Amino acid sequence: MEQTLVILKPSAVERGLIGEVIGRIEKKGLIISGMKMMQLDEKILREHYAHLVDKPFFPSIVESMVACPVIVMCLKGVEAVRVFREMTGVTNGRKAAPGTLRGDYCMSGQMNIVHASDSVENAKIEIARFFKPEEIFEYTPANLTFTYGNDEL
Ligand code: ADP
Repeated sequence: MEQTLVILKPSAVERGLIGEVIGRIEKKGLIISGMKMMQLDEKILREHYAHLVDKPFFPSIVESMVACPVIVMCLKGVEAVRVFREMTGVTNGRKAAPGTLRGDYCMSGQMNIVHASDSVENAKIEIARFFKPEEIFEYTPANLTFTYGNDEL
């Protein structure tokens, strides 16, 4: 199974959306392999958003992401990276499709409540950035045989 990195951003934490997002993750059938609250700082954000460091809005991203602690999660599932990216929706919440997390719960391109890894390769890098190996747990949920068919695992 694949693993993907999720961040419930300050725009989710401050707006009381932690439970809504985690509820959708659980109902979908994605396995939560790791989860913790942490305070981000500019150093880790410069790594995590390296592709945006030169953009004029980067200081604003940093400000929004350090505003309060975030929840980081490692999710596991078959095709988990693509599945959760599609559950997240496009970057701007005003353009994200209804039914997606951003489409249903936010109105902003910046305060867009969740981060989702965009590729399997980046997910591996991001999970290692935010979690120590011992913070990722290997267990088999009892309902797994009703979450997937025999030939899908
Ligand atoms: P995504 O999070 O959808 O993968 P990006 O990697 O392009 O999108 O951007 C990372 C984050 O930076 C976005 O989720 C958003 O919070 C912020 N961001 C992106 N573009 C802008 C922008 N033009 N203005 C302000 N913030 C932005």
